Amino acid sequence: MDIGDRIRIVRGENIYEGLLMPSDSSGNIVSIKLDNGYNIGFRKEDVELELLEAGRPFSATMPKIYVEHKEELPNVAILGTGGTVASKIDYMTGAVYPAFSPEELLMLVPELSELANISGKEILSIVSEDIRFDDWKNVARTIFKHVEDGLDGIVVTHGTDTLHYTTAMMSFMLRDIPVPIIFVGAQRSSDRPSSDAAFNLISAVNFSSTDCKEVVLCMHANMNDEYCHVHRGTKVRKFHTSRRDAFASINSMPIARVYGKGQIDFLSNYRKECGGGPALDLDVEEKVAMIKTHPECRDVLSCLIDKGYKGVILEGTGLGHAPSSLHDEIKRGIEEGIFFGMTSQCIHGRVNMNVYRGGRMLKEEGVVPLGDMTSETAWCKLCFALGHHEDLTAVKKFMTTNIAGELSEVSTIDSYNYCR
Ligand code: GLU
Repeated sequence: MDIGDRIRIVRGENIYEGLLMPSDSSGNIVSIKLDNGYNIGFRKEDVELELLEAGRPFSATMPKIYVEHKEELPNVAILGTGGTVASKIDYMTGAVYPAFSPEELLMLVPELSELANISGKEILSIVSEDIRFDDWKNVARTIFKHVEDGLDGIVVTHGTDTLHYTTAMMSFMLRDIPVPIIFVGAQRSSDRPSSDAAFNLISAVNFSSTDCKEVVLCMHANMNDEYCHVHRGTKVRKFHTSRRDAFASINSMPIARVYGKGQIDFLSNYRKECGGGPALDLDVEEKVAMIKTHPECRDVLSCLIDKGYKGVILEGTGLGHAPSSLHDEIKRGIEEGIFFGMTSQCIHGRVNMNVYRGGRMLKEEGVVPLGDMTSETAWCKLCFALGHHEDLTAVKKFMTTNIAGELSEVSTIDSYNYCR
């Protein structure tokens, strides 16, 4: 039986009829969409199946349309990595499929053709919590190749859960890129009336015409389809599980506000020039961990030291503190050559390890305060730093030097008020 076939399921005395849906990843569940629209699933061994009527053949490919190339428009590549932002729905079964050929994207979001000549490529098709180091290298390589091919802007679609890890990682792996690299996601899938997919994509493609030479993230900024914010890739974080305005800049203002396919207002400074030629640098150390310190967390750290981790970001409490019960283990780790960096789980504000005795002691032991860097960015940067330097003095220098807008001298109260 094929997906979309109308089938009957007999389970004991109960009979159910509906359309066969894709199975779950275990393959042990059979699911159908009932006529009332609800989906239900059964363990295969509990039921008998009967084919009632073959469904229409389902193809995840849409018909080809002709896309005219316009000389006056920028050439923009949309690269797909997964998530709901650029997916299409088979309305019969409810299954979600990626849509990445330019024709398909233009069919989903026709406004894109007013803004740019679009080409498309699917790099990955994953939910973003599954992203791994090799995937990041693959994404960085593909972006770099498109930059070398002379594209005017690159838009990358991505699941929202780890979108800010990827933008931070790309900010270190891709240096001196002469065009905007704009990551975009969606909180609501494109089959829902409240979907933010099209508006975010349109705003991202619109922003690709600017002179911003940074890795950025473009997402809804309020509850309406009014405007998106463009955030620096190293200064942004997901703050809400489901709202469309889930992302906000931390300790800095967003770079810009983009009114869909309309006006673009810049809200803060951004990088307009780049130094040498574009560079791709993929050397990362994978044995790097991050601990949110909490009462009684000593065993977590012991485990990492015993497993040979090379670096640990401590997301401390308040100004950058960790329980005294952890201090001995931190000291042991430092003696074994592990680099410890400190960020704050307060999220907003800066780490200051000079105020309280505990903070001062940790700093004297060698824990490095990381200013106003986000924990997620600090983790990505430490992977990168340890991929390049063995000497911990060099790692410390790299971690405390601003590379891609991740560290600022002062954080303004304005951005805190703005982002809450
Ligand atoms: N967990 C999924 C992801 O981050 C959610 C889908 C989405 O946000 O696009 O990929």
